[in-house]
Amino acid sequence: MNYKNFPMVPRVVFGRGSFNQLSEILTPKRLNLNAPFIFLVDDVFKNNTWITSRIPLSYDDKIIYISAAEEPKTSQVDELVEDIILTTKERPSGIIGIGGGTLLDLAKAVSIMLTNEGETKDYQGWDLVKNPAIYHVGIPTISGTGAEVSRTTVLTGPTQKLGINSDFTPFDQVVLDSELVKNVPKDQWFYTGMDCFIHCVESLKGSYLNTFSETYGNMAFQLCKEIFLGNNLSDVESQENLMMASWHGGMSIAYSQVGVAHAMSYGLSYLLGIKHGIGNCIVFDHLEEFYPEDVVLFKDMKMKHNIELPQGICSNLNDEEFDIMIGVALGLEPLWENALGKNWNKIITPKKLKELYQKM
Ligand code: NAD
Ligand code: ZN
Repeated sequence: MNYKNFPMVPRVVFGRGSFNQLSEILTPKRLNLNAPFIFLVDDVFKNNTWITSRIPLSYDDKIIYISAAEEPKTSQVDELVEDIILTTKERPSGIIGIGGGTLLDLAKAVSIMLTNEGETKDYQGWDLVKNPAIYHVGIPTISGTGAEVSRTTVLTGPTQKLGINSDFTPFDQVVLDSELVKNVPKDQWFYTGMDCFIHCVESLKGSYLNTFSETYGNMAFQLCKEIFLGNNLSDVESQENLMMASWHGGMSIAYSQVGVAHAMSYGLSYLLGIKHGIGNCIVFDHLEEFYPEDVVLFKDMKMKHNIELPQGICSNLNDEEFDIMIGVALGLEPLWENALGKNWNKIITPKKLKELYQKM
């Protein structure tokens, strides 16, 4: 047995209003006056002075606003890196991502590609990154993905949706300020929150489970139940709890793996551009065969919050399109092995997957 030696985020600030401390966090990390900090910020905050006025800009520092309407692409990372190289006098002092999983993943990927040659797509996979990334900071504004703690940055490339999994991917610093999530729309809160719930289920019910993953997973699972099914939390408590559930859920899968919902949702995302959170929900709704009790809980949560998931998204697909989705999903072998054990391919066949997709 060869155990993984897993890197963790070395510094984290937790606290409501801690975003105000950004300047004191970044200042010591400035390399010199020509090496700016680049802030990658979700463009949902573009005219939101409550957030933008607190982004500390000096010298050549700049903000790049980026839409989270689509999930990050390898080509988008290449363009951002090119733009940063062309418009800065020296290699930046740091990249700061402010937003949800989309912006956090972009910040991680850009910080890696500023110090590694070639194209981003060549680094999709496991442990392909050669040089340490530049200093990078993650500031989540919506909770659930665990992207703030994870060792991956999930990108859609020309041939696959796959993460850059490496020891250089995790953030050097994370700022957890639950106040930043206060204006997340309710449906999006649910979808991204369910990503966390599903991380816990897939980790806790998986064959890769171990005590490291189990303890984090149980903690996050309990928090999710309280947040999405309980009646006792104030808004602030609920926001803080989901922020920590996201963190623990991410830690849980770090040392295990996700499962059926994620494998199938990657297929939906690759072919139809369906985003991670909602995609996971669409899939999980039909997985009672694999996660019976948890799908019941999920349906209760959906009902309690009046969430209507899209139906019939696969109803007009042709055979070729099904094959593409099935190919993407089946390519994620570790997810299937975690979910169903070593002989997973006896249980999950292309035909079986097609039947499942046809229900969605
Ligand atoms: P997101 O970043 O895609 O954002 C979802 C929506 O919420 C966007 O419209 C965004 O503008 C909006 N939003 C974010 N914060 C807001 C706020 N405070 N107020 C109002 N609106 C706000 O959402 P996500 O679900 O956090 O991230 C999904 C992405 O994360 C996917 O690309 C997925 O692949 C990735 N992901 C990464 C990991 C990882 O470990 N790296 C894990 C899971 C998911
Ligand atoms: Zn996920």
